[in-house]
Amino acid sequence: MNKYDEAIGYFKYGIDFDIFKEPVATYAKSALEALQQAKMREVGCEYCKEARPILSEIGDLQIDDEDKTLWLICQSEVDDIYEEHTQINYCLMCGRELTEENKNDN
Ligand SMILES: [Zn+2]
Repeated sequence: MNKYDEAIGYFKYGIDFDIFKEPVATYAKSALEALQQAKMREVGCEYCKEARPILSEIGDLQIDDEDKTLWLICQSEVDDIYEEHTQINYCLMCGRELTEENKNDN
């Protein structure tokens, strides 16, 4: 259990068992949402950690976490493959910073 899971657990307990009075209940819900977003930015999501394509209808738009790269790969009906990439510093979907340190987080 990391620091986020512990704090999220405390707030969830308080909300679920209705032990907070207003306005503390509202503050707790706000803090819970902020903690869940912070956890997501630290842990990452399926798009930046598992290379799930962000778009995949006519090609792939995909994040390569290890190279901090956003790839666009399209294939036409005549088999021409078009690729374009650019360096990115943050995941487009969860906001996690893509860094060399994050390479070995698995
Ligand atoms: Zn992500």
